[in-house]
Amino acid sequence: MDFSAELGALQAQSLLRRRPLLDSPPGPRLTIDGKEYLAFASNDYLGLAHHPALIAAAQQAPVRRGVGGTASHLVAGHFTPHEQLEQELAAFVGLPAALLFSSGYMANLGVLTCLLQRGDAVFADKLNHASLNDACLLARAGFKRFRHNDLAQLQTLLAASTARRKVIAVDAVFSMDGDFAPLTGLLHLAEAHDAWLYLDDAHGFGLLGPHGQGSLAHWAISSPRIVYMATLGKAAGVAGAFVAGQADLIQWLINKAHTYIYTTAQPPMLAATVSASLQLITNEGWRRERLQALIQQLRAGCESLPWRLLPSSTAIQPLQIGGSAAALALAQQLRERGIWVPAIRPPTVPEGTARLRISLSAEHTADDVNTLLAALKELA
Ligand SMILES: *Cc1c(COP(=O)(O)O)cnc(C)c1O
Repeated sequence: MDFSAELGALQAQSLLRRRPLLDSPPGPRLTIDGKEYLAFASNDYLGLAHHPALIAAAQQAPVRRGVGGTASHLVAGHFTPHEQLEQELAAFVGLPAALLFSSGYMANLGVLTCLLQRGDAVFADKLNHASLNDACLLARAGFKRFRHNDLAQLQTLLAASTARRKVIAVDAVFSMDGDFAPLTGLLHLAEAHDAWLYLDDAHGFGLLGPHGQGSLAHWAISSPRIVYMATLGKAAGVAGAFVAGQADLIQWLINKAHTYIYTTAQPPMLAATVSASLQLITNEGWRRERLQALIQQLRAGCESLPWRLLPSSTAIQPLQIGGSAAALALAQQLRERGIWVPAIRPPTVPEGTARLRISLSAEHTADDVNTLLAALKELA
């Protein structure tokens, strides 16, 4: 493969990607490639990633336990902070048991390959996260994708399926659109067709529900058919992920999930830090309220713009531009004004729907949002 020619082709299509280099603590003000910006780019929606209580927890834990996970959980890597966090997480989301993974990507791969075999089928929303799509492919089951949030099409596909075991897999909050999957309707279909319902709540955990418990609390649903996954590097501000569900399912994952077994346990200091984060998520409801107020302010302010803000009531506010070159150019013009908003292009989003993914955090101020709105109006 001629990499330089392939990279040149990506560049010509405005699809070349590069990594902005950050040299500041996380937060709305970032030093990127040596320059300061007001940023709307991170998934640290509650502003916990540099909270003093989390930094203190992260510093204290290694004094007792060192820094390394040292072995797989099954060998000699499962420490008390992991065990304690799993119990806290299961109680928090209201499911019988939970299991930590080192990342959401690994959790999705591990669980779906354990739930599914050849001859089974997985039914997936077309806008699911790339890690869920990869997990569905790796599971080697029949992989049926339905139009975004189209319950009627899903029902038709389920009714036509002769698979032994069926799994419906969706993002509970879609990562690039910010909208919700209709979980009540999805659960009804899972019940009617004897399917599992796998929910990836990377963007709901910490944010939705009365205390940030996530999408299950938001929709007030509960069922032994639900397998719940959430990440701990976004609103929780740390790293990792967990899966929660029935106790026998969790035991099965411990025995069978390759991305759980054949990897070193996450450092226990991270689990201790997530426990501290869970306290803040539960107790500091003002962070969610502040975020909601900023979301309303941004949406009201964008009404007069020529670009469409996709319908979202979450911290993910996508301003749809269309072409990749146009989205990159607008992101660049904002940068020249000291504002950093990432342009999201295919294949992360469908062709022709490149967008600025504005993500808000409880740490932004009303003035920050006004600064962004004023710049967008000027550029419109
Ligand atoms: C970020 C994300 C993941 C991956 O989680 P990591 O912990 O970052 O690996 C999975 N699913 C969705 C919907 C995500 O947004």
